[in-house]
Amino acid sequence: MSLAGKIALVTGGSRGIGEAIAYRLAEEGAAVVLCARHLEPAAGVAKTIEARGGQALAVAADIGASADADRLVAACLDRFGRLDILVNNAGITRDGLILRMKDEDWDAVLSVNLDGAFRCARAALRPMLKQKQGGRIINIGSVVGSMGNVGQANYVAAKAGLLGLTKALAREVASRDITVNAVAPGFIETEMTAGIPDAIKQAHVTQIPLGRFGTAAEVAATVAFLASEGAAYITGQVIHVNGGMWSS
Ligand code: NDP
Repeated sequence: MSLAGKIALVTGGSRGIGEAIAYRLAEEGAAVVLCARHLEPAAGVAKTIEARGGQALAVAADIGASADADRLVAACLDRFGRLDILVNNAGITRDGLILRMKDEDWDAVLSVNLDGAFRCARAALRPMLKQKQGGRIINIGSVVGSMGNVGQANYVAAKAGLLGLTKALAREVASRDITVNAVAPGFIETEMTAGIPDAIKQAHVTQIPLGRFGTAAEVAATVAFLASEGAAYITGQVIHVNGGMWSS
């Protein structure tokens, strides 16, 4: 599953699932550009990759801001000269029941989780098309984008939209050997889920046939496969990594 010589860009690579993806792609031989709003933790991940013998670049970028996707891809091209793999991983939550949901909570989640992925994909496709050597776009969705969830209308709408973006883009760029897929995690142990009270966590676990939350490394393994040559004939798909809690 070697990614030697490939350049990967991972949004939200400073912690959680994105951090695990950055490490895994680097282990497979890719040079990794990772971004987050806060530079220091992202730079820490880049340093770790370099200490292990890999190549990495950390960039401070807010993918919810319209100019940052282009700036991010430009930084990647400046440093490594090309881009082969984009992982749209950065995501946020602003939970609340719909009657109490503020416009700004709706807008914030849509602008990072969906608009940001669209802008990063558009910016990444320019060099990928120019290079004429195919490419990979992997969007990190969520099980709730397919099954829905109480108190997350904004997040669910964004993740469901991301699946639509995945399928539309997959058809649009397939003739150029660029594949576009989504990985939809279930409950994964990260900072995003750390705040869930224990009693609620236990209730969730009873709904998961494998009987536990997943790990970021387990999501990263699926992303690494989709990024590899072995996944060349997979496009427009959603791969669920959720311990069996839901299937389409
Ligand atoms: P975390 O909150 O642990 O990490 C989020 C990462 O995204 C951080 O690196 C954060 O850095 C970065 N980020 C957030 N907002 C922005 C922004 N506007 N621009 C750039 N970077 C940003 O999340 P997880 O690792 O848990 O989640 C990663 C992805 O997986 C998300 O898309 C999430 O929706 C999805 N997911 C997670 C699940 C889970 O159970 N954990 C389940 C299903 C899906 P910084 O704060 O410095 O910007």
